[in-house]
Amino acid sequence: MPGFAARQIADWLYRKEIKSIDEMTNLSKKMRELLSEYYEMGLTEPLQTSVSSDGTRKYLYRVLNGKFIETAFIPDRDRATICVSSQAGCKMGCVFCMTGRQGFQGNLSSNEILNQFRSLPEYRQITNMVYMGMGEPLDNLNEVLLSLEILTADWGYGWSPSRITVSTVGILDRLNVFLERSRCHLAVSLHSPFDEERRKLMPIQKTNTLEEVISIIRKFDFNKQRRISFEYILFSGINDTPRHVKELARILNGIRCRINIIRFHPLPGSEFSSPGEKDTVAFRDALTSKGIITTIRASRGIDINAACGLLSTMEQNKT
Ligand code: SF4
Repeated sequence: MPGFAARQIADWLYRKEIKSIDEMTNLSKKMRELLSEYYEMGLTEPLQTSVSSDGTRKYLYRVLNGKFIETAFIPDRDRATICVSSQAGCKMGCVFCMTGRQGFQGNLSSNEILNQFRSLPEYRQITNMVYMGMGEPLDNLNEVLLSLEILTADWGYGWSPSRITVSTVGILDRLNVFLERSRCHLAVSLHSPFDEERRKLMPIQKTNTLEEVISIIRKFDFNKQRRISFEYILFSGINDTPRHVKELARILNGIRCRINIIRFHPLPGSEFSSPGEKDTVAFRDALTSKGIITTIRASRGIDINAACGLLSTMEQNKT
């Protein structure tokens, strides 16, 4: 096919709302037949939708020949954020996470990542995307980078990278590659500033320590265009003391960042619990008084199994 056909095809795929190759009417019939011989559109509708009383929607998709993943659509005033999965299951084994309990089932292709965005009925309303669903994005780095390229390229969806955040536990060599090759925002799962304690929560700490992650982060420039945030799930009596505040302030000193406090969504059989509202606010204020911008993320979709991995685990158990 001639080179110019690539731009025409990209235009149909990413700018126009067609459902079949046959609708690419500025390509000759022969070219469309040739394309159909080797490719398909790859648009797959979600299997199931749960709608929360707060407007959050959770979608369940079937991927990788029979595995399940989840996508959340979170409207909030003039913003609508979509939270996408990058893997089915996850290898990282964080002890507070339902997806971690599923174990690893496979990497999603860039098509399966982007399908979670493009196939949604609310596709046109989406203003922001976070890679914070099932899986560790940097453990599937090539497909994640490819999906980011399609989202941000002028021949693709043409999004600004500042509308996208990729969240990671911090895999050292890949973090470097990601920060060099992408301008998207970064979110790092922190959860404790202490080595021993973080290791108990997140096994990745054994081989990729927070200290090493932070020393990579210090090599890059974070500003309004590319922001860094640290995710901190607050567990009652575990990581919510003044000692934690002091150490967080020490290790993050000099980094232009934000800490997002996340309330823990209880999991079946979990030993963890979330501190009450008063203690959560006190923890936020203590961090703020140390000069760290700190916010408490609003819990959304509580009535529809907000914890990521619950819905797909339930579906898996049926099969
Ligand atoms: S929290 Fe993220 S990285 Fe950890 S097990 Fe769950 S999905 Fe994987």
